[in-house]
Amino acid sequence: MSRIVVLGGGESGVGSAVLAKVKGHEVFLSDMGNITEEYAAMLNKWEIPFEQGHHTEDLILNADEVIKSPGIPSTAPMVRKITEKGIGVISEIEFAGRYDSAKKVCITGSNGKTTTTSLVYHLLKQAGLNVGLGGNIGKSYAFQVATENYDIYVLELSSFQLDNVYDFKADIAIITNITPDHLDRYGHNMENYVKAKFRITRNMSSDDCFIFCSDDEITVRHLDQIVMKAQKLPFTQKEEVPQGAFVKEDRMIVRYKEEECDMYLQELALGGRHNVYNSMAAALAAKAMDIDNEAIRSGLATFQAVEHRLENVLSIKDVLYINDSKATNVDAAWYALECQTRPVVWIVGGTDKGNDYASLIPLAKEKVKAMICMGLDNRKFHESFEGIVPEIHDVTSAKDAVQLAHSLAVSGDVVLLSPCCASFDLFKNYEDRGRQFKEAVRNL
Ligand code: ADP
Repeated sequence: MSRIVVLGGGESGVGSAVLAKVKGHEVFLSDMGNITEEYAAMLNKWEIPFEQGHHTEDLILNADEVIKSPGIPSTAPMVRKITEKGIGVISEIEFAGRYDSAKKVCITGSNGKTTTTSLVYHLLKQAGLNVGLGGNIGKSYAFQVATENYDIYVLELSSFQLDNVYDFKADIAIITNITPDHLDRYGHNMENYVKAKFRITRNMSSDDCFIFCSDDEITVRHLDQIVMKAQKLPFTQKEEVPQGAFVKEDRMIVRYKEEECDMYLQELALGGRHNVYNSMAAALAAKAMDIDNEAIRSGLATFQAVEHRLENVLSIKDVLYINDSKATNVDAAWYALECQTRPVVWIVGGTDKGNDYASLIPLAKEKVKAMICMGLDNRKFHESFEGIVPEIHDVTSAKDAVQLAHSLAVSGDVVLLSPCCASFDLFKNYEDRGRQFKEAVRNL
């Protein structure tokens, strides 16, 4: 038994605390902010002592090991003190991995994590495997390791969750792509961010598979500089590959070992070029897990879009409303615009993370008939898109945005919420933004 201190009382922290308790450790949880009633009730139920609103050093610096929630930066004063004292700091993923012998398919990347993770889960589940879904999605991995018994886990891992992993090992790792995001947490250094993503491949051996986008220059450049023991399986829309997944004319082809699985792109449930990538990555993971071709095809054809990711909300008088609230960065919005075939009334805006909108200009010129900026500070949008897009308006609520969009759109148009920005200026989070958008659409 050791004394485990958990920093942070959200999904990840509470899950870790429960697992530590189940494994017989002495546990204490501390959160500088507030713990929601739901999590506090859970801690009480599991008889785990905790504090909120402050950190009591005496109760923390006597830990044998500290589990840090991914939301807390390693530069936080308490974390510094812990490290200075020589106490090991690990992540929930590292801790839970110690107690889990299930096979693990782990997914990270800048965009497409949730979609790809959900796709892989759907493929494995449909094929009848006893599989759990966790990480950055749904219930925490640690909580599930404490309370469930799965043969396989499909885990979405953000780079923050990967920051403090050391011995954790994935059997199959996917990096969907790497584009600049969250650079503030990595000292504005892209190299650090790339390295954090590649931590997903730590400890992998030649029996394991690493699935990556070979059209992504940043990923490929880094891969050239490191030793990768795992079998490399690229997915690409640019060329044919001997092993991996690629696009040939109107089909997607997956080659793994001696087998080949192919499928018409038109049959994929998820539209857009980015989802061809996500579908290829998921199909490769499924192939590497020995899922048969028919199950892969039917799984990719029946998958239901995840909420807030290019989610079709309603069509009103032949104007289609699409909720892509999760597009919190430029690259995600690029793919959303790229796959539109009808004139677009584009709702953007929110908290800018140092965005550069240059890459969106050609698509905006070609497809966007009006822009609605839904944010407290829309200057950068005006600067970037004036003269490119015929009209640009400002609003400060989802309701106003939708009503204005409704008055601007005509039959055959699309109203696309794909904001390029975080949501914290006007909304609780991107889910809140997406739900308010959908509600306003339903009330039209
Ligand atoms: P994540 O979990 O990495 O944030 P999601 O699957 O939730 O990724 O998608 C986030 C946003 O990125 C959505 O707007 C979605 O349409 C877009 N997106 C999904 N997959 C990709 C991809 N492979 N490349 C670029 N953008 C993507």
